[in-house]
Amino acid sequence: MGEVFGLSRRLSTFVGVLAFGTAAALDGCSTGQSSTETGATVAPASGGEVTAAESISSAPAQPQMEYAIAIHGGAGGPSRDISPEERAKYGQALASALRTGRDMLAKGGSALDVVETVVRALEDEALFNAGKGAVFTHAGTHELDASIMDGRDLSTGAVGAVRTVKNPITLARAVMEHTRHVLLVGDGAEQFAKERKVDRVNNSYFSTKHRRQQWEEKKALERQRDPSSAAALNDRRFLMGTVGAVALDKNGHLAAATSTGGLTDKRWGRIGDAPIVGAGTYADNKTCAVSGTGIGEEFIRHGVARSIAAEIEHGAGSLDSAAKKLVHQRLKPDQGGVIAVSVRGEIALEYNTDGMLRAAADSAGRFEVFLWESPEQLQD
Ligand code: ASP
Repeated sequence: MGEVFGLSRRLSTFVGVLAFGTAAALDGCSTGQSSTETGATVAPASGGEVTAAESISSAPAQPQMEYAIAIHGGAGGPSRDISPEERAKYGQALASALRTGRDMLAKGGSALDVVETVVRALEDEALFNAGKGAVFTHAGTHELDASIMDGRDLSTGAVGAVRTVKNPITLARAVMEHTRHVLLVGDGAEQFAKERKVDRVNNSYFSTKHRRQQWEEKKALERQRDPSSAAALNDRRFLMGTVGAVALDKNGHLAAATSTGGLTDKRWGRIGDAPIVGAGTYADNKTCAVSGTGIGEEFIRHGVARSIAAEIEHGAGSLDSAAKKLVHQRLKPDQGGVIAVSVRGEIALEYNTDGMLRAAADSAGRFEVFLWESPEQLQD
């Protein structure tokens, strides 16, 4: 794993140039409500255009792409007035993780290894609300959730409310591969981590100045109004950074992984959708792999990830239409988004928040990173 990261970094010639002229101008003009890309056609949610994904429903069931990958760094996203330097940091972090995953897939790596590797990299990057950089709980600590799923046989593993596990996604994979259970939480998960000898850290390792400030802001906001109000809970500043990856490998296998610190100021051992298989994560070789981000309670209520797969399985639509249906019809505005990849290599990046940090690459040469509507201008 470390070698893969090292290799990727050594090979990286990424310059990280962002052009803020055209992209920023286009961003400002957009509705900010939808961004689904199928790899061939980009169609606004409101447009009547038939996308590639919709038009291939009767085509032979063979992958269009040899491999494909999508990743996210959370719905909500940073405020649009961040500095060019800050914007570049997000773009570069996403591009670096995407490149790592894409290169592994191009070399024949398995979707499962790819999603774990990419999510580990995003967990280690302090910009995102997962691993280092996780949000603060009400008690001023960090409790992390993660899950991983293998589309070959629906194997899955998840952990909830872990406090000392440096890379929760790796512990989730250990649950999948070394237990007969699916979800371990709290002290039990910690005990399992100790037994598996995964990397452990003090809880303060996850703290960053930025997250502490966010937490202080959230508490100040709640002092001014009803703390249980949905508006306070859903304020997008407190809903950003969960990470996820979905991949299709050269053998036609799918996998999904999601990892998060949850919601800022969460209480009482709250667990979100990230470790709930079918809510925040799902993968089935028959249909697609999905990773979600947003208000976990809503993703659990609507079983978002599994519902997207079910739509396709029951012939109710393409990946594109299924993702749109769940994100724009089942969820309400400002509740979140999903990334998904189908067994044919189509990619959906759909959200109903102001933005969603996301990126996608495939065997046809696509390599795109988005914070808002327009792709960031990156040099690969
Ligand atoms: N879905 C995550 C949770 O509710 C939060 C997020 O995606 O930002 O725990």
